[in-house]
Amino acid sequence: MSENSTPTPAAVKSARGKPRRAFAPAARSRCLAEAKYNRRSDAMNLDRIRSAAAAIALSLAWAGGALAQTAPAPQALAQDVWLIAGGFPDKRQPDGNTVVFEGATGLVVLDTGRHRWQRQAILDFARARKVRIAAIVNSHWHLDHVSGNPDLKAAYPDAKVYASDAIDGALAGFLKDSAVLSREYLKSPGVPEGTAADIRGDVATIDNGAALRPDVVVRQSGILVLAGRKMQVHLAADGPTAGDVWLYAPASRIAAVGDLVTLPVPFFDTACVAGWQSALAEIEATSFETLVPGHGKPMTRAEFGHYRIAFDNFVACANSSRDQAECAAGWAKDAGALLEANGMDPNRAQGMAVYYVNQVLRPNGGNSKFCRTRG
Ligand SMILES: [Zn+2]
Repeated sequence: MSENSTPTPAAVKSARGKPRRAFAPAARSRCLAEAKYNRRSDAMNLDRIRSAAAAIALSLAWAGGALAQTAPAPQALAQDVWLIAGGFPDKRQPDGNTVVFEGATGLVVLDTGRHRWQRQAILDFARARKVRIAAIVNSHWHLDHVSGNPDLKAAYPDAKVYASDAIDGALAGFLKDSAVLSREYLKSPGVPEGTAADIRGDVATIDNGAALRPDVVVRQSGILVLAGRKMQVHLAADGPTAGDVWLYAPASRIAAVGDLVTLPVPFFDTACVAGWQSALAEIEATSFETLVPGHGKPMTRAEFGHYRIAFDNFVACANSSRDQAECAAGWAKDAGALLEANGMDPNRAQGMAVYYVNQVLRPNGGNSKFCRTRG
């Protein structure tokens, strides 16, 4: 345990123990919703995409804004907190948002992105500020949030990675399987070069998967002192994944919540809905003023309130006999101001929402098929 990352013993335990039994591997396939929406006329291609996409989260045919393939400049959220926004470039896979907190003895980095440009932006920020990276926290194991871990640790060997142990099950099952599928997919013709580059990158990340595992497993919520800074570290079990971690920094009243909040829709691919709703209530119970989602722009409390209402209405609709289109339209209406603030197309959001009702939630009794707690 580094002097600069001193957790309370009750909150975390050493990760030295054996990996826990692998549970049903969690998929990261929100791209399926996008692919279905954008390419529904190309059923064969979609089927082919499905097998690999279900594994590694392709974001094919995302026709959104033409974002530059570089991370944007860090954006100050407070005197000592910055956002390095994750992008979602055309024909590429996404990066989750990175949030950097500065403490007395270094930087705490929440999530390290997928692409080199995201991790480079993190390293450039630390170097420009002349402050070392003292701790890395992963909100969850998806590759758009953890892939930069090894490079950051190579640059700052004393930095410890804090995360839940959900990645153990993923490495033993889902990610291992996905590497096999992805290698096959790369042999097929017509894979766009940017997509192929991302898949090759993901396969290399999985091949080096042990390097992604946490040094310190977060097993319950508690107060940790990271880089000399007191942080609330929250564990959300069985929400978007089997174990999501989110941070609340009381001094700046900023909550960084990973994929517990995402736009254009919540990504239900691996979700347990009840655990997710509990986590949203726990977020609301903090005194945050600014919330940083896993994907999308920072939100005010009022905006988070809108998100929560939209979320609850959407899952209630999915659990009813109402038409899927009605559920999707309801989401687009309830979340309309948020989508607009992010420059996101409400029609695309509706297409993805229909997918989640039809293909993910209703066939599995209201949860994803990867939810461990579903009945
Ligand atoms: Zn994400």
